Order: sequence, then structure tokens, then C-alpha cells
Amino acid sequence: MATCETSCCIVGAGPAGVILALLLARKGVAVTLLEAHADLDRDFRGDTVHPSTLELIDQLGLIDKLLALPHRRMDRLVITTDHGRETLIDFSRIHSKYPFVALMPQAEFLQLLVDDARLNPNFCFVTNANVQQLVREDSGVVQGVQYSTPDGNTHEVRANVVIGADGRFSRLRKLAGFEPQKFAPPMDILWFRVPRQATDSAEDLSGTFFTRGGHLAVVLERPGQEWQIGYVILKGSYHELKAQGIEQLRADFSSLVPGLADRANCLHDFRDVTVLSVEVARIDCWHLPGLLLIGDAAHVMSPVGGIGIQYAVQDAIAAANILTAPLLNGQVTEHDLAAVQKKREPAIRAAQRFQTFVQSQIVAQALRTDQPFHLPLPVRLIQKLPLLRRIPGSIIGHGFHQVHWQG
Ligand SMILES: Cc1cc2nc3c(=O)[nH]c(=O)nc-3n(C[C@H](O)[C@H](O)[C@H](O)COP(=O)(O)OP(=O)(O)OC[C@H]3O[C@@H](n4cnc5c(N)ncnc54)[C@H](O)[C@@H]3O)c2cc1C
Repeated sequence: MATCETSCCIVGAGPAGVILALLLARKGVAVTLLEAHADLDRDFRGDTVHPSTLELIDQLGLIDKLLALPHRRMDRLVITTDHGRETLIDFSRIHSKYPFVALMPQAEFLQLLVDDARLNPNFCFVTNANVQQLVREDSGVVQGVQYSTPDGNTHEVRANVVIGADGRFSRLRKLAGFEPQKFAPPMDILWFRVPRQATDSAEDLSGTFFTRGGHLAVVLERPGQEWQIGYVILKGSYHELKAQGIEQLRADFSSLVPGLADRANCLHDFRDVTVLSVEVARIDCWHLPGLLLIGDAAHVMSPVGGIGIQYAVQDAIAAANILTAPLLNGQVTEHDLAAVQKKREPAIRAAQRFQTFVQSQIVAQALRTDQPFHLPLPVRLIQKLPLLRRIPGSIIGHGFHQVHWQG
């Protein structure tokens, strides 16, 4: 079995793993990043780059390159109900050099960062590397991982620290024996795309939630000639919807978003739809001696606010700030790993509480068929008071307890 040694072995090249690898590599830490897939391509994954992440990319000197990639800017999130149109979140009001969310394919965002990390000779990126096992001392201390490649070979990477950034179905979390605590959100989401036409009004459609008669959908802009639709359904109701046939989904979508009704027939069958089973979860302990979990591996966020990437990136920044010096000294203790969780856990808990409030007070209410939908009182109050209007944008744009890279 081929074996190599590094200082930090990161499993998973999603936003958490790639950002952490780049920040450590820039500081001279020897990093090996392992990714199970052959490339970074993801369909219907988070395509949102929030102001806090744009600020980090600026700090890294990569913002011009990033904003030169095809993207759309989302300045606000709006909701259209039977009572009219209301702004829910106005990013343009927040204190940031980048007061908007950049919508761009996640693969292109990650590729830019990987290309930059590759400029450092101490960075090694291995694709097609499916991590199967932890390498542990008799005392239980994690010392590395074993991964298999498509040709059937097994390789070993030995490291001072292993970082599990392998996403919501984390294998490392299972291998470590951590059981996530799961919360039950009221919804699932169907993702699909419809063509965009030159006459479509971005003002009326982009970043807009539509709700009527127990239905709810959001329309997001994508670079290119497509709209991305997130069609929200009651948790577990997908099979019932499927049994009703694609015609029913087309009809419901057409009456919900009349501006795109003429494109509903682009939904030929349910193969054009990707189902996201919405999950909210977190583990109580993110670390073992020699192992730290970050990003979705440690906490799965609800899609409310589209903040999964942002919180994964913030974990990576906290981990880089805390672990760079011990990694350079070759002396990382479990206390250092625990410090990362201590830094990030309050933000995760606060964000999940905020998402739970939105899910119960807005999403669940919008999906009710037995009563008309009204925005909850706190939301209406925020809209009425100019001094408060910046708050939702800051919560979503910067996240709770924003971490800055100590570059
Ligand atoms: C359908 C969908 C839509 C979403 N939309 C949004 C959105 O609009 N905005 C937003 O912010 N978030 C969104 N999210 C959530 C967002 O994608 C995640 O929160 C974010 O990607 C988490 O980053 P991560 O780096 O922790 O994990 P991931 O992005 O999941 O990355 C984990 C990586 O680890 C790799 N991996 C897994 N197992 C192994 C293994 N054994 N060996 C090696 N590699 C492995 C995976 O291939 C993957 O590349 C969405 C998620 C889904 C599923």
C-alpha cells in the first residue's frame, strides 16, 4: 500500500475543505486534500456566495478573478403574496464592501480557489480518492486515513491532523462514532430549471418567493439563460405529488409564478426535478484526538437563507486561525481542535434557531391550505422600522459571529 505523509489531511473538497486547504497552504502548512469525485462539479448544490465569503475572497486578493466569472448579483429577497410584494431581506443596506449575494456555479467558485492553492508547493490535491478508513494508534489517536481509487488500489495518508469536511453524509463522522442530533424541518424542496427569455423581468422574478393557496416557491437567477426554481413542499409529500403526475406540478407552478407559466411545459417528467430532503442536524462533539469535523459533516443547515456554504466557510476560517501555528509547530492538541468547535458552535446554534423560526413562522404558514398567509408580526415590524431593516440582511449576509481570517 502506497503511503505518504503530510501535516494536515483534509477529506472533502467542498467549500469547507477547499477554503481550509487554501488558508493553511498560504501559511506554509503541508496540506493534502482528498476528494472522492473526479472533479468539483455539483448540480443543484449551493451556488450562493454571501458577503462574508466575498470579503474573505477580497482579503485573499482573488475578488477580481471571482467576480470576472459568470455570476448574478442578488441584492434582496422579496416575497409576493395575495396582499402584494414585500422585501424580506435587503442586502444592499448592510455594512459591507460587497452588499450582495453572488450567484455562481459552486464548481467554478471552488476551482478558482483550488487553482490558487496549487500555486503553493506544500499543497497536494488528490481526486478520485474515496476515504474509507481512519488510521488510528492503539490509544485511539487518529493518525491518518486510507482511501481507495477507482483502479481498486488502497493508499494511506499519515498526518498530524485529519479534518473531516466530507459533507452531510460524512463517512468520517460515522467512523468516529458520532451520531448527529436531528431536527425535523417542515419541508422538502424540489429544484428545477426553466429557460429565461429576454423579456423576463429580473425585477419581478429574481430572488422572489411566491406564495399562494398553500404553495411556495423561490425563483433564483443563474448565470446563463435559466431560472432556478426551489419549489417548497411539505416534508415527506413528494411521493404523493409524484403520484398526481407532472401535470399537477406544472399547473401549480403556473398559477404560483404566472410570469413563468409559459415555461412550465419544460418539466417533461419528474426526472427534470431534483428532490432535496431538507435536514437540520448537528453533532455534540466535533473532535477526537487527531480528528476534527467541520462544515456539513458537523452541522447540516436548513436551506433557509442559503447559508450552508457560508457556515462551512466560516468553520474553515476559524480552523485556519486556530490550527495554523500548532500545525507549523507539529504539535496540535485536542484542546486546539476543541477550540474550533467552541468558536463556531454558538453561531451554528443561533443560525439553526433563526432558521427554525423562519421555517415555523413563514414556510409552514405559507404551506397551509386552510388559512390565508400573512407575514408574522416581527417581520412586519422590521419592515416598518427603517433602523431595524438592516438586521435580516446582516444576519444572512454576515452570519452570526462572523470570523475574520487572521491572514
Ligand atoms: C440540493 C442542495 C442545494 C443547496 N443549496 C444551497 C444554497 O443555495 N446555498 C448554500 O449556502 N448552501 C446550499 N446547500 C448546502 C451546501 O451545499 C452545503 O452546506 C455546503 O456545500 C457544505 O460544504 P461542505 O464543504 O461542508 O460539504 P460539501 O459541500 O458537501 O462537500 C463535501 C465533499 O466531500 C466529498 N466527500 C464525501 N465523502 C468523501 C469521502 N469518503 N472521501 C473523500 N471525499 C468525500 C464530497 O464529494 C464533497 O465534495 C445546498 C445543498 C443541497 C444538497
